[in-house]
Amino acid sequence: MQTEMTKEIYLDNSATTPLSAAAENAMREAMTCYGNPSSLHMAGQRSKKLLEESREKILACLGVRQRQGELIFTSCGTEATSTALLGCAFAKERREASVILTTDSEHPATMRALEHLEKKGFEVIKIATRGGVLDIDGVKRILADSSKKIFMASFMLVNNETGALYRVGEAFKEIKKKHPSAITHCDAVQGFMRVGFTPSSISADLISISGHKIHAPKGVGALYISPELIKAKKIVSYLCGGGQEKGMRSGTENIIGISAFAAAAHDMRVRSGEISEKLSSLYAYADERLSVLDVRINIPLGDKVSHIINITLPSIKSETMLHFLSGRGIYVSSGSACSSHSRKTSSALLAFGLNEREADCSIRVSLSEYNTKEDIDALCEALRQGIDTLVRIR
Ligand code: PLP
Repeated sequence: MQTEMTKEIYLDNSATTPLSAAAENAMREAMTCYGNPSSLHMAGQRSKKLLEESREKILACLGVRQRQGELIFTSCGTEATSTALLGCAFAKERREASVILTTDSEHPATMRALEHLEKKGFEVIKIATRGGVLDIDGVKRILADSSKKIFMASFMLVNNETGALYRVGEAFKEIKKKHPSAITHCDAVQGFMRVGFTPSSISADLISISGHKIHAPKGVGALYISPELIKAKKIVSYLCGGGQEKGMRSGTENIIGISAFAAAAHDMRVRSGEISEKLSSLYAYADERLSVLDVRINIPLGDKVSHIINITLPSIKSETMLHFLSGRGIYVSSGSACSSHSRKTSSALLAFGLNEREADCSIRVSLSEYNTKEDIDALCEALRQGIDTLVRIR
């Protein structure tokens, strides 16, 4: 058991992040905006103003200038992705193109939605991401097959378990070249405010993002929708109600969460140079310290982000190590937070190339700018002790 005096070291920032001061301040201010943004009186209009200002701030963080697309607020990244994938499938009347391309290492938010669409008659084809590299040649091979009419492609930008940064823009451009009417969706939940991209730089019609991964509170996410998609009515809402968010997401908006999301994103944008320098230096330090331990660092062969490190332990189940570390106040993850309770071997790690035993013995360390080199030192020392103790027990 952890004593009250133990300092907590939080290294599970891909699961969720602590609130930033910017987000906290924005929440406090937004609490005074009690009006419903759909109400016409002054109290409602104050909330409406805050809502629209927040929308503009996040669009600016996505590099989108006014009127070059819509941003629909949702309750989380999962809802944004379901809105994108199911919303486009529901809008489709004739089924000429029915192939959906995705990767073999997507988050369950995408995987489960696509399993649903598969049952509805869509053909889902998974592109390999071995070694953390999106197989662009695999995409090209499918595009060369004239029998495969592409309806949609949904690729994640950053893998939440390995930190691999996929060349989504290159893949989407190839797809659009061959199938101009294909819809492209990017799950950028782990990439937003961590890597630079815009909807046009990655050729995405739809982009899912989430507040709690960037130091905003849980309970808020957003979906970017391109003007072309809206104009062509290629997406519909599956939520019935009052028609908020341009009819795409009925339900009264979470003004406090939305305003904090915008403030957190804006704060990270303003300090992006400083944050990325800090994370790169922490990553390099962690890499150096971890490499002298009896662990293997699963470094993506291609591009990667510097806030996610996946390591395989020497025949110690990830959960066992997680509890050992947790008892010492050090918090890491044994797979993505959403799937950790399902106790299934991580499909993302299998796709990366790990075998089942290795995948079951792997932990994820995910950093934020609030971590320090001392946190890494404490992690490495606890890991060293854990490996020694747990291997001996076994
Ligand atoms: N996509 C990725 C890559 C994620 O890492 C997560 C959360 O871990 C999600 C989607 C889901 O986001 P949310 O927790 O906001 O629903």
